[in-house]
Amino acid sequence: MNAVELLRDLVRIPSESGKEDAVVARLEAAFKDLGWKAVRSGRNLHAFLGDGPGPLLLLNSHTDTVPVGANWTRGALEAEVSGGRIYGRGTNDAKGCLTAMILGAAAAFGKDAPRGRVCVAATCEEEINGKGLESLIAELPKPDAAVIGEPTGLQPAVAQKGLLLLEITAHGRSAHAAWGGGVNAVELSAKDVLALAGLKFETSHPTLGSPSVCVAQINGGTRHNVVPDRCVFVVDIRTTPDYAPEEIVEKVKALVKGEVSVRSKRLGAVATDPGHPIVRAALAANPGAAPYGSPTLSDWVFLKGVPTVKVGPGDSKRSHTPDEYLETAELEAGVGFYERLIRSYFAGAARA
Ligand SMILES: [Zn+2]
Repeated sequence: MNAVELLRDLVRIPSESGKEDAVVARLEAAFKDLGWKAVRSGRNLHAFLGDGPGPLLLLNSHTDTVPVGANWTRGALEAEVSGGRIYGRGTNDAKGCLTAMILGAAAAFGKDAPRGRVCVAATCEEEINGKGLESLIAELPKPDAAVIGEPTGLQPAVAQKGLLLLEITAHGRSAHAAWGGGVNAVELSAKDVLALAGLKFETSHPTLGSPSVCVAQINGGTRHNVVPDRCVFVVDIRTTPDYAPEEIVEKVKALVKGEVSVRSKRLGAVATDPGHPIVRAALAANPGAAPYGSPTLSDWVFLKGVPTVKVGPGDSKRSHTPDEYLETAELEAGVGFYERLIRSYFAGAARA
């Protein structure tokens, strides 16, 4: 099976989050062509390779993409190959990773199969932090290690920031703007926004650094001639494993006067011991690579307690952009990379 042609097929089938059925059907056919027993549950698809004994390694990437969006100069769903690049929505994020994982696993188990089992899983709704991998993982035996396929230039991410979303509401008292008086909630929020600059994190994670804080939205007042009695702003905090979300919430509460409510803390920070065999396998598969900490989310958040690396061909900065592409050379390097990673992981596990 040809990697470029499989990827082009996948890209030609639109698969915005929630609408992955057709692309899953194409993948099901690919699994069958490879002689794999494909198991479909909802819009997730997986197959087990190898019969053990030995550890279970999960290889996962996602089938959904963000919407095509504007400003493309190429067909977003045509998978045009030009100048060594394959263009189209999802080439880089993450159908290229998925294609490389499938063909890398097929190569590893094609001959001289390692002793151990791999589960290749193509899951839905990653771009909306939906129920794809989160629901599949509940149906699978617990993996001993996992690889999340996302475009990282084949550099292994060994930690990933989490997301804590807060809403901070100021309650004032309305009055006629011309007469004055009342308590202006927008002004109260303005003071709280500035007070957040005092949010300090003493502990810096070796690869992730400190949590980041961004006041991303603010909304107050209903009309120009009324002193606003309510203002709400949203704070996007990217967390590290050094701080529990509750701890950060307490720090925020100590700084602001408004009412703090947690909109989401479901997507926690995760990290893997850099000496774990799955990290060593990723480094062995790409000598010269360096482990790093990733600020962006992925389905890794749903693999708490499973040693994981996030790694794949492509460049995260091309994701979600017009004229998204993956180089054919990157795709082919990805296939070889995942094959070597699988072999190194099981060789290391056999020695351990
Ligand atoms: Zn992705």
